[in-house]
Amino acid sequence: MPYKNPSDPKVKEKKKAYKDAYNALPEVKAKKQAYQLLPEVQVKRALSRTRQYLKNREKELADARLWASNNRDKKNAHKANRKAKKINAGGRGISPSEWKAIIDAANGICSYCDAWVEKLTLDHIVPLDRGGEHDILNAAAACRSCNSSKSIKLLYEEWIPPNKR
Ligand SMILES: [Zn+2]
Repeated sequence: MPYKNPSDPKVKEKKKAYKDAYNALPEVKAKKQAYQLLPEVQVKRALSRTRQYLKNREKELADARLWASNNRDKKNAHKANRKAKKINAGGRGISPSEWKAIIDAANGICSYCDAWVEKLTLDHIVPLDRGGEHDILNAAAACRSCNSSKSIKLLYEEWIPPNKR
């Protein structure tokens, strides 16, 4: 009998044909189906699907977080521009690079309370809802807490910044 090379395509083909024929046997098919229906096999499959899902979701969340932290300034400026447009505020608008310049100058310090925070938000000194312009001249870097406490109040007249109290 001549030596058969296992990687010879002809040998491979023959092997595959044999395997297919074996798998097509009704008793083999039934056995495989029965195996797939075993509760422990189903549980195993469900677990593997769940793990796969969690792995993907974890990655998606991580990607989104990474994008947001790399594009924080862009996101902030974009959000403010959208709001200004919505209420038809005047002013020249604030570009992401202008906003970044404000943030860089603030160096993490809130303009109103002097607290160092990881994330500064864009505050309109004269609120847009009170006729303020969406303009770099009307923008301040503020912590979330000051920004939400100041809200649509007028600076000094209706809201005294914590660092001036
Ligand atoms: Zn503050």
